[in-house]
Amino acid sequence: MPWKAISPIEVYKILPRTNCKECGEENCMAFAVKLVNMETKIEKCTPIIKEDKYKKALEKLTELLSPQVREIEIRSPKKTIKIGGEYVMHRHELTYINPAPIAIDIDDNMSKDEIVKRIDFVEHFEYEYIGRKLNLDLLAIRSVSNDPNKFKEVVKFVSENTSLPLILCTFNPKVMEAGLSVLPDSRPLLYAATKDNWREMGELALKNDLPIVVYSPGDIDTLMTLANTLSKAGISDIALDPGTFVGPNGLRYTLSTFTMLRWKACNEDDKLAGYPLIGTPITAWKMIEGEKDQKMWWETLMAVMLLTRYSNLLIMHSLEGWSYLPVVMWRFNLYTDPRRPVAVDPGVRTIGDPKEDSPVMVTGNYALTYSLVGMDIQSGKVDCYLVITDTEGIAVECAVPGRKFLPEGIAEVLKTSKLDEKVKHRYLIIPGKAARLSGDIEDVTGWKVIVGPQDSKDIPKFVSEKWDPKKLSEIYGN
Ligand code: SF4
Repeated sequence: MPWKAISPIEVYKILPRTNCKECGEENCMAFAVKLVNMETKIEKCTPIIKEDKYKKALEKLTELLSPQVREIEIRSPKKTIKIGGEYVMHRHELTYINPAPIAIDIDDNMSKDEIVKRIDFVEHFEYEYIGRKLNLDLLAIRSVSNDPNKFKEVVKFVSENTSLPLILCTFNPKVMEAGLSVLPDSRPLLYAATKDNWREMGELALKNDLPIVVYSPGDIDTLMTLANTLSKAGISDIALDPGTFVGPNGLRYTLSTFTMLRWKACNEDDKLAGYPLIGTPITAWKMIEGEKDQKMWWETLMAVMLLTRYSNLLIMHSLEGWSYLPVVMWRFNLYTDPRRPVAVDPGVRTIGDPKEDSPVMVTGNYALTYSLVGMDIQSGKVDCYLVITDTEGIAVECAVPGRKFLPEGIAEVLKTSKLDEKVKHRYLIIPGKAARLSGDIEDVTGWKVIVGPQDSKDIPKFVSEKWDPKKLSEIYGN
């Protein structure tokens, strides 16, 4: 059945209904509401997990709440990444769950210097976008040599130099086995089982309880047959790679194939199509003729299109920051929850190098507001403390009339951050749009309020003309 909104009552009827509070909620009904909103996990209800008498109830609940696309874990000893786990085809129907991780490849013919350079690139790639840090996620080690010993050596070297989860890429089961032998505490993704090696690759996945990709480019029937065979053999964590073809015709074929598979999973309840989809924009480096920039351009284009059309993991090659920016920014936007505004955590941010007489400004925690205010302050080279109060992700102009920009919230941030120990004055610059709350904020916080500009772009001018703690102290007497 396609996913439909589940009623909390339906879930409540299956829960133990003892209101024991072990899940941290007041009662079973509150837990049921959180479960259907995906704000908690079944595992938090310990009685249903641990007690035999609830075994059937647990099975029923697991079935009711299971996603249309299976969720798979890829692990290193220090980090776990989840792929798939999606409930809907279109984001606006609910939300997308697990942002598609991006892997960069390393091959076993590369020098150690080159390998270290690629590990560093992935680990240190960071772009701050409306208050969030956007990163890359994992490494895909490819056997180019087809030599088990060489692959093993490179897998060992990489695993000793990174904490990121790994994908092991080879069609040769002996090479795969050699690579796996040096990863006893990890759960890498095996790439891949094909029509020629499925038996041996399947045995490796089964024996080591590992997730495996089924690869059949341009042949969906074989892809489905292989997934079915491995599933019947007892492998549950399967991912599908129907092939990524680059160029105008390749792009059309690739997107229609990915879309068709996800349609079958979400709307026809086709269990074989209900596995995570693997996109490999890296194929642009082989398929596109011409200059390096041309290949990178196509790789980035394919990555963005594949994110849009249901790929749950991407494998890429480029080491240029620009080629990843559109990908990570688009991924961020695609995977934000449309049911909730994008918010940053409340607290105090330091901008520049503030001192004890630097301004203290207040804004809300809508991510875009925070980002714009922060950029305007930075570009004006104003050193200050920025108090982010919890407006439930709502912009200041709506949060004020909607009673979300609360004096109590500002007081809480001032208290928990101990800002009064960092500055010697007691003045708060609030947004012009919150002017009518000045008195209430003064009463609740005990700080004097100065009403700032309506638009954050005017903050630098406002501060240079009006911020002088000594003069303010003469006016306000403290
Ligand atoms: S732990 Fe389970 S049984 Fe106990 S209150 Fe929560 S949902 Fe109900």
